[in-house]
Amino acid sequence: MATILGCIADDFTGATDLAGLLARSGVPVSLRIGVPDAAPASTAPCEVIALKSRTAPVLEAVEDALAALQWLREAGATRFFWKYCSTFDSTPKGNIGPVAEALMAAIGVEQTIYCPAFPENGRSIFMGNLFVGRQPLAESSMRDHPLTPMRDSNLMRLLEPQVTKPVGLVDRLTVARGAYAVRAELETLRLKGVSHVVVDAVANDDLHVIANACRDMPLLTGGSAVAMPLPGLYLADGVLADEAHRTEKTPLPAGAIVLSGSCSAATNGQVAAYIARGVPHYRLDPLVLADEGVKGARDWLAAQDLDRAPLIYATADPQSVRLAQERLGPARSGQIVEDALAELAVAARDMGARRFVIAGGETSGAVTRALGVKQLDVGAEIAPGVPWCFSSAGEHPIAITLKSGNFGAEGFFTEALAELEQP
Ligand code: ADP
Repeated sequence: MATILGCIADDFTGATDLAGLLARSGVPVSLRIGVPDAAPASTAPCEVIALKSRTAPVLEAVEDALAALQWLREAGATRFFWKYCSTFDSTPKGNIGPVAEALMAAIGVEQTIYCPAFPENGRSIFMGNLFVGRQPLAESSMRDHPLTPMRDSNLMRLLEPQVTKPVGLVDRLTVARGAYAVRAELETLRLKGVSHVVVDAVANDDLHVIANACRDMPLLTGGSAVAMPLPGLYLADGVLADEAHRTEKTPLPAGAIVLSGSCSAATNGQVAAYIARGVPHYRLDPLVLADEGVKGARDWLAAQDLDRAPLIYATADPQSVRLAQERLGPARSGQIVEDALAELAVAARDMGARRFVIAGGETSGAVTRALGVKQLDVGAEIAPGVPWCFSSAGEHPIAITLKSGNFGAEGFFTEALAELEQP
């Protein structure tokens, strides 16, 4: 099937989040990890390419995004979506603005929107300020993120140092007046030379208004939620033919493993809740890994019954993360943990694990790479923005879910495994 919508995501869990929401429309969605080496062959109407560029140097992130754009164009895509985190994870030297500007230049558009709002997950934007639940971003737990600590909540201020062209806002009062008003305001801003427009959204209805107003813009940017209505709108417009059918679930053996490298507040809660159920668990400490390597964890894993879905986690509170970062440096402590979890994922697969629950964006990148997973068919959602995906690791069919740190309710790990049992 020809591709209509081509999406580029700056990390793995962001890509699965987007793919899951697009798949709610019933339109087939395919997720590719990294830009495929081969030219597009059998593609889905919605293609999502997951990059690993959130914290990469700007030039590298831009180069990767342009390569993804090229592949998606070859697949036939005429509309594009640049997906980043709903908490706008990006320092002043971050990649969100530079990548958007490079994509705009390559596609030949003067203006795009920025809408990371995801009301179902408590992310809303009002007067250009991003909130996590009731807290401004910079007062939320994102203050202490290991790689992208967010110390400002104002998206225009965050974006300005990252781009060369002017930044503006379509505020909630305009969005409340409907799609026509949003389109008119965007046009007014465009005539004033405003290329980068943050758009407020506090509820799902706002996102429908925005998607409706912007459905014909060749490039949109934001979180996954604003993209969710797009396949439905394309079907209604006849841009997408109505021949879509969902990916079937593949029956899988029971062996499962839960690997968690996210240190978000949500994941800390999920790890604690899973342990409280009496599930076998093993904690990875970056300081121990630095001294002794991963052998202790491997030996522990080798003795486990995978039908009990054991948990291996590096998830820790901000104080422990700070301690590890002070001793080893932020990059090295993160890498040591990612390498260890990737190695353990492969060991679990070799022991017979076919169901993988992975928590953490960077962590998911490391694990999928190690398992050799390159393309996933997107299945049912477990929590908003977190679907099960079906793929193969080596010769074996597997199910894998890649959870962004902040996502999912406290019982996420148990819910994820239960969802696979559904007929
Ligand atoms: P999230 O989706 O929550 O942002 P990520 O996996 O993207 O999660 O990022 C978490 C980062 O923190 C990873 O690089 C991971 O290796 C690192 N990390 C995990 N546990 C620890 C720890 N105990 N100390 C220091 N860094 C850690």
